[in-house]
Amino acid sequence: MLSAWAVPLAFVAMAHIMYISCTVLFLCSCFGVAMRRKADLPSKPCQCCGRPFRWRRKWARCWAEVRYCSDRCRREARRLSRRQDGA
Ligand SMILES: [Zn+2]
Repeated sequence: MLSAWAVPLAFVAMAHIMYISCTVLFLCSCFGVAMRRKADLPSKPCQCCGRPFRWRRKWARCWAEVRYCSDRCRREARRLSRRQDGA
């Protein structure tokens, strides 16, 4: 009686394992594509700290005008330029 149930149960379990592993593989490949896309995004060096920074969604409309990697660098650059004007 037990062995009669064991065979279909084992089959169902195998099918579940296959399904889960396929899903995991699919998700991993999607994640890998997303990561690669992120690496392909354009980047340019910050005019304040010199470190390269990557395109962000918030700069989609003004990427050509973006010169600094962060608000901190933008503030710093503005502060330095103001000091030069004063001197
Ligand atoms: Zn910077």
